[in-house]
Amino acid sequence: MSEEANPRLMANKQLDLAAEVLGLDPNLHAFLREPIMVVEVSVAVRLDDGRIRLFKGWRSQHNRFRGPTKGGIRYHPDTNLEEVVALSMWMTWKCALVNLPFGGAKGGVCCNPPEMSRGELERLTRRYTFLLSPFIGPEKDIPAPDVYTDAQTMAWIMDTFSILSGYTVPGVVTGKPVDLGGSVGRVEATGRGCVFTIREVLKHLGIDPEKTTAAVQGYGNVGSNAACLLTDLGVKVIAATDVHGGVINRDGLDTRALKQHVGETGSVVSFPGTSPISNEELFALDVDILIPAAMGNVITSHNAGKIRAKVIGEGANGPTTPEADRILRDNGVFVIPDILANAGGVTVSYFEWVQNLYNFHWDEKRVNHELEKVMVQAFNEVHEMAKEKQVDNRTAAYLLAVDRVARAGAERGLFP
Ligand code: GLU
Repeated sequence: MSEEANPRLMANKQLDLAAEVLGLDPNLHAFLREPIMVVEVSVAVRLDDGRIRLFKGWRSQHNRFRGPTKGGIRYHPDTNLEEVVALSMWMTWKCALVNLPFGGAKGGVCCNPPEMSRGELERLTRRYTFLLSPFIGPEKDIPAPDVYTDAQTMAWIMDTFSILSGYTVPGVVTGKPVDLGGSVGRVEATGRGCVFTIREVLKHLGIDPEKTTAAVQGYGNVGSNAACLLTDLGVKVIAATDVHGGVINRDGLDTRALKQHVGETGSVVSFPGTSPISNEELFALDVDILIPAAMGNVITSHNAGKIRAKVIGEGANGPTTPEADRILRDNGVFVIPDILANAGGVTVSYFEWVQNLYNFHWDEKRVNHELEKVMVQAFNEVHEMAKEKQVDNRTAAYLLAVDRVARAGAERGLFP
């Protein structure tokens, strides 16, 4: 892996930049560069053919200054310790930026879900939960969905943890099915939050959404929901890609029909009325808005210079390397950094956790309204900070987040 593509180095570089501008205490800085605890597990799973296979898994808890740790669990063949640690650090900043009373965590299991049966995924999830059970809980660390995990995965985690506890514990995970104490609006929340921030940017730039076009990389939960909500804003979404390929229609895609097509076929490829397009071509399209909504490390020094979009809304975690950030800044691209653009998911996760704690359910109108308030306020704070300190949006977001975490740490002091 090249140095530029190493997520942990990338996360530390971003922190170092903010620490310098903030004049962060060197002791706290060193503390924040490392996760407080990482658990590594070997998840033994009986496969459908009778064999037993071991899968490596991790849970990284980066920081607890502001509250219990929070963050998703991803199942992916490329996930590894370095990535999980970086993602847990980004969760700390994300939670602080939108002012949630959480620290950051992330989990990952190195496996390939499209090649596994439902039974194998269930057994993997239950065994992983069992191994993590001493370290998670509503007051300790609260997992949620991420890449290749969903409400069903959360239901299995909740059930396993509840059986081990001897009573039902809905608050141990968020992103659950609504029947089991999940929050309405949670599935769409990351995409919705991303679109709220894009709407605010367009307002600020004086651009009419009805006169804009967009391209979306990744048409999973985040990308597809963002695309549908952009369409509702009047934005013409002209292209979408995924791991299998991509589609373009310059007159605009029917984003909801495309979502249904992906649900039925597993990919955007062959969506009627479109021409094929590669990921590489998507990034260089002459669109106003670009949404990377899949994996990390997709905007690098190699392709950043080719990007023609005015606004990038980072639906994914860690899509842009620090080297690419510099190029985008020089080219005047308005980047809405991941810890802001995709914070809608964890924000509604927080609402779900709160609802679970007091056993009361909000309706969708309330969830979306509270989400909008959080996203708009965070956007305004980042934007003000960027202007005040003359820094890019990512650095501004880090200044706000790192300062909040550092203040909490200084106030709590060091034990013993
Ligand atoms: N996995 C999501 C993220 O990266 C959501 C985390 C959560 O809801 O805890 O922000």
